[in-house]
Amino acid sequence: MTRVAVVGAGVMGSAAAWALRERGAEVAVYEQFADVEHDRGSSHGRTRIFRLAYPHDEWVRLAEESLALWQALGDDLLSLHGLVELAPARELTSVDALERCGAAFSFEPHDERVRVPDGWSALWQPLAGVVFADRARRRFLRDVDVRTGVHVESPDDLDADVVVVTAGPWVRRFAPDLPVRVTRETVAYFRADGPPLPSVVELHAGRGHAMYALHDPVHGLKVGAHFAGHETDPDEEEGPDDEIVARIAEWTAAHFPNADPDPVGAQSCIYTSTSDESFVLERRGRVVIGSPCSGHGFKFAPALGRRLADLALG
Ligand SMILES: Cc1cc2nc3c(=O)[nH]c(=O)nc-3n(C[C@H](O)[C@H](O)[C@H](O)COP(=O)(O)OP(=O)(O)OC[C@H]3O[C@@H](n4cnc5c(N)ncnc54)[C@H](O)[C@@H]3O)c2cc1C
Repeated sequence: MTRVAVVGAGVMGSAAAWALRERGAEVAVYEQFADVEHDRGSSHGRTRIFRLAYPHDEWVRLAEESLALWQALGDDLLSLHGLVELAPARELTSVDALERCGAAFSFEPHDERVRVPDGWSALWQPLAGVVFADRARRRFLRDVDVRTGVHVESPDDLDADVVVVTAGPWVRRFAPDLPVRVTRETVAYFRADGPPLPSVVELHAGRGHAMYALHDPVHGLKVGAHFAGHETDPDEEEGPDDEIVARIAEWTAAHFPNADPDPVGAQSCIYTSTSDESFVLERRGRVVIGSPCSGHGFKFAPALGRRLADLALG
C-alpha cells in the first residue's frame, strides 16, 4: 500500500485525499491551522459557482466530468438552479464551446431578477448553479486521517512514499519557481429573498470574467470582483477591501434590482493564479504539486483530486 502525505486541507488537498483513498492508498493530511474550517486560504465559505459554461472546450469537458463526480459524491453538494453568462456581444459568450460539447444553453430571457444591460447578450446555462463549498470539503475528508496544527516545513520531514503539496497560496514555499501570483480578493454578501438566484458571470472582451454573483444560503446573494485584489502575503491577516466592496455594491444594484443594495458583510479570500488562469498539477520526484486555483478551481475539485491521485500513484 502506498503511503501518501498531503500538505494542506483546503478543497484540493481534501479532494486528493478522497481520490487517493478511493485508489487504496494510505493517506494522512497535514494542515497548519488548528481547525480545517479556517478562513485564511482559498476554500472557506458556503458556496462557489458551478458552471459548464466556459469559452474553451477543455474547460467545459472538465466541468462535465466534475459534475458527474459531484453527483456521485452525494445529492446535497450541488444546487443546479442555472447560470446567466453576460457579455457585451454574443460571440464573447461560451456559445460555441457549449455547442461543440453538446451542453444545453439558450439565449431566451430566463430570470427577470437578473437585469441584462442594454445591448448585452445573456446566455442561460441550466446545468449550473453552486457547489456547497463547506459541505464538499467535509465530504471529501470523511474518514480521512487529518492532522491539524501541523506546519510542514519541507516534504523531506514527512514519512511517506509520496507527498502531495496542495498548499494554496503558500505553495511557493515548496516550489519557489512556480509561475503564480498570490492576490487577496474581496467578496460581499447581500440580502435577497425568494428561491436561489442563478449564478451570474460577466465576461469582457480579452480578459475573461470580471464580476460574478452566486446564491448564498444565509443571506441570499454573494458577489465578487474577479482579479480586483492586490498581491499579498498569505501569512498576513487582512480583511476585505472597502473600495472593492463599494464597486461590488454598485454592480449588484445595477444587476439585481430585487436585492438589498447595502452589503450585509464582506470577506477576503486568496487567489493563486497563473497568467492564463490554468492550473499547475505536476510531479517532481517524490513530490506532487497541485495549485489549481486561478479563482475558478473549486468546481473541478473531484476531477482534479483524481488527477493528483494519478500523479501520486502512477
Ligand atoms: C474569492 C474567491 C472566489 C472564488 N470563487 C470560485 C467560484 O465561484 N467557483 C470556483 O470553481 N472556484 C472559485 N474560487 C477558487 C477556489 O476556491 C480555489 O480554486 C480553491 O479553493 C483552491 O483550494 P486549495 O486547496 O488549492 O487552497 P487552500 O484552500 O488555500 O488550501 C491550502 C491549505 O494548505 C494549508 N497549508 C499551507 N501551507 C501549509 C504547510 N506548510 N503545512 C500545513 N498546511 C499548509 C493551508 O492552511 C490551507 O488550509 C474562488 C476563490 C476565491 C478566493
